[in-house]
Amino acid sequence: MNEEMYDIVVIGAGPGGYHAAIRAAQYDAKVLLIEKDKVGGTCLNRGCIATKALYSSASLIENIKNHAFNYGIDINGEVKPNFNRAVDRKNRIVNQLIENIEVLIKQRKIDLSYGSGKLMGGSIESAFNVKIEGKDEKIVKAKRLIIATGSKPADVPSFNINHEKILTSDDILSNNFKTIPNTILIIGGGVIGCEFANIFNRFGSKVIILEYLPSIIAMEEPSVARELKKKFRVMGIEVFEDRRVLEINTTDSQVNAMTCDANIPKDQVESAEKRVFNADLCLVSIGRIQCIENLGIENSKIEIRRGSIQVNEKTLETAEKGIYAIGDVNGGLMLAHVASYEADIAVFNALSSIGGFDTFPVKTDYTVIPSSIFTAYEIASVGVKSKFLEVQDVQIRTGRFGYAGLGKAKCMGEEEGFLMMNVNEKTDEILGASCIGVAAPELISEISLAMKNGLTVHEITDTIHSHPTLSEMVLEAAEDVYGLSIHRARRRIKEKIDLQEDMIQQFIKSEKLKKYGLVSLAMTGD
Ligand code: FAD
Repeated sequence: MNEEMYDIVVIGAGPGGYHAAIRAAQYDAKVLLIEKDKVGGTCLNRGCIATKALYSSASLIENIKNHAFNYGIDINGEVKPNFNRAVDRKNRIVNQLIENIEVLIKQRKIDLSYGSGKLMGGSIESAFNVKIEGKDEKIVKAKRLIIATGSKPADVPSFNINHEKILTSDDILSNNFKTIPNTILIIGGGVIGCEFANIFNRFGSKVIILEYLPSIIAMEEPSVARELKKKFRVMGIEVFEDRRVLEINTTDSQVNAMTCDANIPKDQVESAEKRVFNADLCLVSIGRIQCIENLGIENSKIEIRRGSIQVNEKTLETAEKGIYAIGDVNGGLMLAHVASYEADIAVFNALSSIGGFDTFPVKTDYTVIPSSIFTAYEIASVGVKSKFLEVQDVQIRTGRFGYAGLGKAKCMGEEEGFLMMNVNEKTDEILGASCIGVAAPELISEISLAMKNGLTVHEITDTIHSHPTLSEMVLEAAEDVYGLSIHRARRRIKEKIDLQEDMIQQFIKSEKLKKYGLVSLAMTGD
């Protein structure tokens, strides 16, 4: 039997895989996309979008409860969160987006097969044999293969995850989970744990977070983590840091987690003082592992290291020529937009190596990757955090601006939080930025664009920002790098005369001034 030949076969239809399939089809490749569950992957079905739908419900509850009166709205009767309906809304959003993706796939004439994709051997010269096991059972040939099978929640045997009382994020985001427990224990205060802490708290649960590291959201700026912890305290969310969870067990009605101090060496844990936390439900959100099982890796030269598929980090090609791995499965940053970005890189490299397509080989550039958290505050960051810059001994200036100083934020009743920006003192280059407060991820986008294009703070301050908008946060923080924020009450930077001299020096360095032939003007200070 002659198997059908495709230019590109993609296994996994998450934000990496379906993006890759559409991009390849846009360049006239013949594409097959294989998905064993639902298109949209973790991101849509049990990740980014599913959580953000519930986050939006949680935020509305908070606004109605805490702000409606001040805004001039009287609410007669009890404001009663209804998690059932919030979950129904989440399910509707997810289903609509699944349909949208399926339409896009159809419009691009991509073949979509439901089933599990398995590599059966082959090579770049002879093409690869891929078997689909399940609903659309068949074997096809692929000139190039892109693996985008993503990740799943990590498990620890002693945590006894039973998917009834001890749950993963997959369980909580399933279509039928509609329980708001009186008390929930969240093991792991990373992004996912903190997002669920906010959702359950707003819907009425008592929330306890147990975190192994010295801080929740430990990869963010310490000042950002501190601000979130302050807010959690006000909301009644209890955070226990430096706690090692040893085991989790269920009784008839409860879940209990036995813990000890995380700083106690492993060999002394047995005799260490224990503390037990009880709750009605427990969410284990301690990280994720790559989906590589039953992929037929053994039928190839693909290398696995620490559970993830190894790739050339510039081209995303695996050790087997002609096979690429993108997104969570390759062990890089586990973010949906990174998976989609990598899809472009893999597709361009794959099609260019086949030849005859209007593409050229490309290399990854991970220098500017924004990330977001949607919890009691919105949090976003891009670039290098201060603590790493300190370690690298980079001299920086920091600009900072608080929402409380901004007219638009005041009108919105969103005065908590701040935006900070770190700039290389010598070169004026923006090295990183963090924001905690309303619309933080949108505000960080402007800084990402500036960083990606090598713009300095002067280019930001030189750009007219519409008033009144939250984007003025970026302008004011950029101005504050040189102590020139108009609306920041307290001036932090030395004496004015020094500042002027400093500004002239910075302007002399500015590429933009050079471009307009204004260097001599800046030098004379005219
Ligand atoms: P996935 O989205 O995991 O998709 C992989 C697909 O491959 C799945 O559909 C799976 O069924 C399929 N598959 C696996 N094996 C096979 C096989 N053998 N054959 C066929 N199909 C197969 N990221 C963000 O950027 N922003 C967020 O706000 C955010 N929130 C999150 C919240 C939660 C609760 C979680 C769990 C994750 C969140 N993420 C977020 C991370 C994000 O979801 C992932 O980084 C992203 O989905 C990775 O995309 P991917 O395409 O690599 O894999």
